[in-house]
Amino acid sequence: MKRYIVLLGPPGAGKGTQAQVIAQTLNLAHISSGEIFRENLKNQTELGKLARTYMDRGVLVPDDVTIAMIEARLRKADCDEGALLDGFPRTPVQAKALDQLLEKTNDRISCVPYINVPEETLIERLSGRWTCPVCGYVYHEKNNPPANPGVCDKDQGVLQQREDDKAETVQKRIDVYWQQTSPLIDYYRKMGLLVEVDGKRSIDEVSQQLLEEINKKAD
Ligand code: AMP
Repeated sequence: MKRYIVLLGPPGAGKGTQAQVIAQTLNLAHISSGEIFRENLKNQTELGKLARTYMDRGVLVPDDVTIAMIEARLRKADCDEGALLDGFPRTPVQAKALDQLLEKTNDRISCVPYINVPEETLIERLSGRWTCPVCGYVYHEKNNPPANPGVCDKDQGVLQQREDDKAETVQKRIDVYWQQTSPLIDYYRKMGLLVEVDGKRSIDEVSQQLLEEINKKAD
């Protein structure tokens, strides 16, 4: 049986950081919709050009485009054991599309960890965030700084700030989350899949709690 995990939480909750740890520990493909869009943006594909017009404003890329992209990604061979979804689904329409897609192969979501973080912490986290363009690792200038400021510990990549982590866009992304994504908390709670994790704790503590909760659901 394949294993599908959906990581839920507002922008800045630590989904990307935690997804990397969990996917590696559980040997699952890590699918980040935001990362796929950014990759397309970098390579200037048609999808990237379209996505940019939404991402720069901090709003969501339309459902049909996003769903088609994730469908194609889930068909790749590295998803043979399942996948950890980070940043998708983000609307009720996307959530239903994912359920229908998995149904086709008799699969279903096994667990939806929800990383809960208060709003004031999110803004502080997002604006201090720096990413390595080479390996994608995300640092934070206060909570998780690199050994040498501005340089990745793993591959010496020069750290960059995401365009949409700039102050003007951050608040918009959080508002969009409350309006369009937060209804998914109830959606998955009603399905008995939601497990809530306190995202204010340290990176290691959150990873540990996430893995415990995911394993409990697998029992
Ligand atoms: P993220 O890296 O997950 O914060 O995503 C960055 C941006 O990509 C978002 O602000 C959206 O514009 C776009 N995006 C990522 N995932 C989705 C999704 N599931 N649905 C629509 N837009 C998305």
